[in-house]
Amino acid sequence: MTSQNLDRNALRNAVANRRDRAIDDLCALVRHDSLLGNEAPAQNWVADRFADMGLAVERVKIDINALRDQPGFSPVVTTEYSGRENIVGLHKPAKQTGRSLILNGHIDVVPTGPVAQWRRGPFDPYVERDWLYGRGAGDMKAGIIAYCHALAALHDLGLEPAAPVILQSVVEEECTGNGALACLHAGYKADCAIIPEPFSQTLMTAQLGVMWFQLHVTGSPAHVLDTSAGSNAIEAAFGFFETLKEVEEIWNHPTHRHAAYGAHVHPVNFNLGKIEGGEWASTVPPVCSADIRVGFYPGMELAKVRETIEAVAQSALENHPSCKGAKFDITYRGFQAEGCVMDETHPMMTMIGDIHQEVTGNVIKNYASTATTDARFFQIYGNIPATCYGPKAERIHGIDERVSISSMMEVTEVLALFIADWCGTAKRDTQPA
Ligand SMILES: [Zn+2]
Repeated sequence: MTSQNLDRNALRNAVANRRDRAIDDLCALVRHDSLLGNEAPAQNWVADRFADMGLAVERVKIDINALRDQPGFSPVVTTEYSGRENIVGLHKPAKQTGRSLILNGHIDVVPTGPVAQWRRGPFDPYVERDWLYGRGAGDMKAGIIAYCHALAALHDLGLEPAAPVILQSVVEEECTGNGALACLHAGYKADCAIIPEPFSQTLMTAQLGVMWFQLHVTGSPAHVLDTSAGSNAIEAAFGFFETLKEVEEIWNHPTHRHAAYGAHVHPVNFNLGKIEGGEWASTVPPVCSADIRVGFYPGMELAKVRETIEAVAQSALENHPSCKGAKFDITYRGFQAEGCVMDETHPMMTMIGDIHQEVTGNVIKNYASTATTDARFFQIYGNIPATCYGPKAERIHGIDERVSISSMMEVTEVLALFIADWCGTAKRDTQPA
C-alpha cells in the first residue's frame, strides 16, 4: 500500500500545525447551539467545512415514513423534521486501492441544565489551560473537528486517501439515532466506521442497549382531608419506579452480567429522568407522566425488555402500596436501541490500538460503554464493523462540559494515521482551496 512510504512524522506535524485552527473551529461549532430542533446552523457550518476540504457535500433528510419499518428505528420524540438534515462529505479517489472508511459524529447536543450554574454561557466557548468549555464541546463536536483536521492534514502533505472516505455529521444521536439510521438507509457503506465519541481515547468494545419509555399514571382525585379516598398518581409513579429498580439490581448482580461488563461497578442504570403531574397542593394528584430510561445488555431483545417493563407494572399494581387503585399506560418512544459487541480482533480494532500506542506511547484500553452510541447502526444493521475512539472530556451532559485540547489533537493524529494506513494514500490531484 502506498502508505508504506508515508512520512509519519510529517503527517503528525501537519496535525500539530493545525492546533490553533482546530481550536477556532471547535469554538465556532460550539457557538451554534444545535439543541434538538436547532441543528441547521451548525450543520450548515459543517457543510461549508466539508466543501472547503474539496469534498462532495450531500444532505440526507430524515423521512420517518421511509425509516419506520427499518430495523433499529426508534419512535420519534419530535415530529418536526423540516430543516433538520444530516450532512455527508464524500471523498472519492481517482482510483481505489485501499479500504473505505466512514467517520461519523453527531451534531446534536443535550439541554444545558440551569444556565446560571455555568461559569459562562454554555454556548460561549472559552479555553482555560488544556480545556475548552461549552455544551457539546466534548460530546461530540471535538470529534467532528478531529476527523475534519485529520483528513485536512493529509491534504497538507499533498496526499489524499486511496479509497472512499465518508464524513458524516448526523442529528438525533441523543434521543433516537434516526439521523444515523437515515444515512444507513440512504446507502452509505464502507469497510469500517469510527465515531470519535468522548471516551478518553479508549477503544469501545461493547455498548449497552438503551430503551426510553413514558409511564402514564391515572389515579383518582380527592380532597387531601381524606387522601385514602383517592389514588395518588405521583406516588404511584414512584411505586412503579421502586419496583423497576429491583430489576436494575438483579441485572447488575455479577451472576446476571454480560461478560463484557464483568469489571464494571454498576453497568446497568435505570433513570427516572422527567416527571410531570398533579394540579393543586390540596388535591390528590389524578395524573402523572414519567420519562424513564433503562439500560440492558447486548444480546437482550427489545421485546424481552418490554415484557419485563410490563411485568414490573403488573407487579407494582398488585404489590406496591402506593400503586393501589392506579392505572398504568406505557408508551415507547425515543431510544429503542439494542446493545452490541465489537470484534476486538478485527483489523480496524487492532489498527486503532497500534496507532494509539504509536502516538501516545501507551497501550490502548478497551471500554465497554454503559450508554448507547450510533455505532449500533453500522455494527448490527449495516454489517459495517464500527467502534468509538475519541477525546477525553468531562461533565458531558452536565454543567461546565469541557474537552481536553491535547487529547483532541492526539485523536486527530491517530485518525490521520488511521486514514492513511486503512485507506492508503495517493497524490492529491487538486490542492486545497
Ligand atoms: Zn455523544
